[in-house]
Amino acid sequence: MIEREQREITMTEVAVNASARRTEVADLAARTRTFVCEEVLPIEDHHDGDVALAGGDDLRRTLQSRARELGLLAPHGPMDCGGRGLSMTERAGVFEAAGYGLFGAMAINAAAPDEGNMHLLDHVATPQQRERFLAPLVSAEFRSAFAMTEPAPGAGSDPSALQTRATRTRNGWRIDGQKLFITGADGADFFIIMARTSGDVGSRGGGTMFLAPASTPGLRIGRHVPTMDRSMVGGHCEVFFDGLELPEDAVLGEVDEGFRYVQVRLGPARMTHVMRWLGAAGRAHETALDYVTSRRVFGASLSDQGLAQHLIAENEIDLAATRALLDVACVALDSGSPAAQETSIAKTFGGEAIGRVADRAVQLCGGMGVSADLPVARIAREVRPFRVYDGPSEVHRFAIAKRAAKAARVRREEAR
Ligand SMILES: Cc1cc2nc3c(=O)[nH]c(=O)nc-3n(C[C@H](O)[C@H](O)[C@H](O)COP(=O)(O)OP(=O)(O)OC[C@H]3O[C@@H](n4cnc5c(N)ncnc54)[C@H](O)[C@@H]3O)c2cc1C
Repeated sequence: MIEREQREITMTEVAVNASARRTEVADLAARTRTFVCEEVLPIEDHHDGDVALAGGDDLRRTLQSRARELGLLAPHGPMDCGGRGLSMTERAGVFEAAGYGLFGAMAINAAAPDEGNMHLLDHVATPQQRERFLAPLVSAEFRSAFAMTEPAPGAGSDPSALQTRATRTRNGWRIDGQKLFITGADGADFFIIMARTSGDVGSRGGGTMFLAPASTPGLRIGRHVPTMDRSMVGGHCEVFFDGLELPEDAVLGEVDEGFRYVQVRLGPARMTHVMRWLGAAGRAHETALDYVTSRRVFGASLSDQGLAQHLIAENEIDLAATRALLDVACVALDSGSPAAQETSIAKTFGGEAIGRVADRAVQLCGGMGVSADLPVARIAREVRPFRVYDGPSEVHRFAIAKRAAKAARVRREEAR
């Protein structure tokens, strides 16, 4: 009897704690949205979402110090580094609220690539690396970059084409190679570099990750590749490694395990991109709704015209379906699964649905939709590259189909 009562009390405590946590997270999302709407959007709107024009790293520091004052900084960061340790499911609403503004995720220190790098370091870094790189990244003292993609014929959609080489020296490693499209490289404090330590180009193993302070001799930033998007601080840059010497303790995790760690980083990083871009797509849709409900055409409200209703309904469906698929993937990730299939599906559908929502919003707003007076054109511009990075849609479809076929073969074998 006493044992049963104790069990009931414990279960009640768990339920109370879970409910308090839900309230805390909902409050965080609401406060993030207020901060973004009141303090971030006016800057974005004034500069048409161009972060360099808006002040680049100076703007980042100003917004992040304000977010720190408000208790909104890096809610996903591990608790021992000053974050709140939000789970994937918990961060969905908060990141969507941040993504409502194109500079919102940067303002709360939840933007790519830093946010994905925090996740990777949290899982793989040694205690020393944690202290030296992860803690200052969470507190926004540091900014970082993730250097994997290379110019053709190197790593891109197919990471096994990795050409950058790391060779052993007496004291550690020497890296030679070239990277391309490295987000945030200009002004980053450190880089996570993917280099080949064994195997030939084309082999699926033999990659190793290295941590390199940006000031290390032999690491050089080239040009910013001019791209259609403009909201990410530090650009998308060429990066060169010309005899970059690193000590043994620069290795992140185990030698030759880099391709495995890429998956540790990429599954969650893809989902946090979906969360942030859902916020932007939500703003595009709300802007279109404001427009169509206040604009009259052919003697009626634009929102009552059948073809406009079709676009509005399709937007509602795409947003809801993306949230649902994201939730499935986040629950799987939170349960400890690699969630490869769930994250591929949510990334592919979400990336394309978010693009459709932004494009329909442009259409619904007519001439204003393509102007900089409304945010919809800039949102359409910013979300388009998401169908390419974090795995192009075609690569995810190819992987989704391969996993489905493999599962079917296993089922057939088991049925024999
Ligand atoms: C804005 C932006 C930011 C980025 N930031 C980073 C970063 O911070 N760090 C980093 O390392 N990289 C970054 N990247 C690079 C990005 O990850 C690559 O662009 C992406 O992996 C595609 O590689 P690729 O450009 O070499 O295209 P390619 O490999 O040349 O592929 C070209 C196209 O071919 C198609 N394709 C590929 N495989 C298949 C297939 N099996 N079947 C059919 N079609 C296929 C796809 O449509 C693909 O878009 C960024 C890219 C962009 C655009």
